[in-house]
Amino acid sequence: MTFYPGPSKVYPQVGQYLQDAFAEGILSVNHRSPECMQITREAIEGLHEKLNIPEDYFIYFISSATEAWEIIAQSLTRSKSVHYHNGAFGKKWAEYTQRLVLSIEEISFGINELPIIDENKAYDDVICITQNETSNGTQIRDISPFRTAFPEAIIAVDVTSSLGGIELDWQQGDVWFASVQKCLGLPAGMGLMICSPRALKRAEEINDRKYYNSLLFIHENFIKFQTHYTPNILSIYLINKIISDISNISIISERLKKQANGWYNFFENNVPQASACFVSGIQAKACGTLIQNPLVRADTVIAIGGSEEQIKAVKALTKAQNITLGNGYGSWKNTSYRIANFPAIEDFEIEKLKDVLRKSITN
Ligand SMILES: *Cc1c(COP(=O)(O)O)cnc(C)c1O
Repeated sequence: MTFYPGPSKVYPQVGQYLQDAFAEGILSVNHRSPECMQITREAIEGLHEKLNIPEDYFIYFISSATEAWEIIAQSLTRSKSVHYHNGAFGKKWAEYTQRLVLSIEEISFGINELPIIDENKAYDDVICITQNETSNGTQIRDISPFRTAFPEAIIAVDVTSSLGGIELDWQQGDVWFASVQKCLGLPAGMGLMICSPRALKRAEEINDRKYYNSLLFIHENFIKFQTHYTPNILSIYLINKIISDISNISIISERLKKQANGWYNFFENNVPQASACFVSGIQAKACGTLIQNPLVRADTVIAIGGSEEQIKAVKALTKAQNITLGNGYGSWKNTSYRIANFPAIEDFEIEKLKDVLRKSITN
């Protein structure tokens, strides 16, 4: 049983679909064949439908979220990239971008805060926002203030650990991206990039054609339901199958929100504070939800903080039950653990983990 927030638990049907893909011979088809184009088209239509993505937004398959960071820097940034971040992934994004563009500006904020938007700035190039910061379990639920403050800018949003789990307000952003091994419940090896017509216009204006993954090359292939390189056809096959199985995102989103509240209540109210860290007689005063401000807590990644000893003890206890928790990440590596609240995780698994954590109370 795994609660790791990426690579994460895959949907249970994936096992059967892997065998189907082999049996159907899809693993050996040419990537410019009608069969492959058909699967690509169905997958893209399914994503539009189930995730409520606007008709005029383009969906591209790329190799990872990391690749999206670079595509944005290469193909959508004129000269300056502005990065709002409060954790490891947002910071990494800024570092990758710095190597590729003329200048960046970093605006960091605390884990219990929302970013402060200075409306006096005239940002009109690219604004980079990590909607769900997987490293510390925070989220920016409403990104519309960025659009309001900087109407000329291309708004790029990292939704790697929330796409497929929460409902997103697509019109508020121009570039959205994720990898499939997190909230989408699939094996690693593919990324999704979703672009508004404005983003495409900006790409045309910049006209970057220097790289194999220049956005215009990607786009020119995808309007024919083809790809700019031989893609991970198995991933496209799997995403098509899973997307046709799942409910509309509005339903998934409701369920995950309830579950997230369940988790936060579990650590705050229902059991004595920080019970999950009362292991082997270790006192756990400082242990509990890492994020105190309920307004910025993520729905899809629950972060629990504590002392190094406490965290070690909880991980040992769950490991003994064959349950994998997510390690802490970045500066919270040894002083937190994370629980994925992704749609592929089932009720019985959540109950089992809560049981094990409850039993760790040694009053
Ligand atoms: C995991 C993650 C990434 C990187 O994903 P890759 O698939 O390794 O490229 C980027 N951003 C966020 C927020 C993530 O959680």
